[in-house]
Amino acid sequence: MNFEDFLRFHNINLNYVNIPSAVRGFAYYNGCNYLVAINSKYSREQNIKTTAHELIHIFKNHFFCQKGDEEECEEEVEQIIRELKNKF
Ligand SMILES: [Zn+2]
Repeated sequence: MNFEDFLRFHNINLNYVNIPSAVRGFAYYNGCNYLVAINSKYSREQNIKTTAHELIHIFKNHFFCQKGDEEECEEEVEQIIRELKNKF
């Protein structure tokens, strides 16, 4: 399964979009499909990191977090990325 098939299998639409540079990217769930929007203003390297970040939100089901838990969700993503980096 290549990356495109992986995204399709999980109903994830990955898009490079022209959005204000304050936002590196975001993920959105409409109840059926996921949209991952990655800011085209950033470097390839940053966009790979942002995509990994947003995919973790999806696989941790952070769309079902209670309001007010956003910071906790962000910390969980950062913790997973720190642990991933420590593997290498
Ligand atoms: Zn995040």
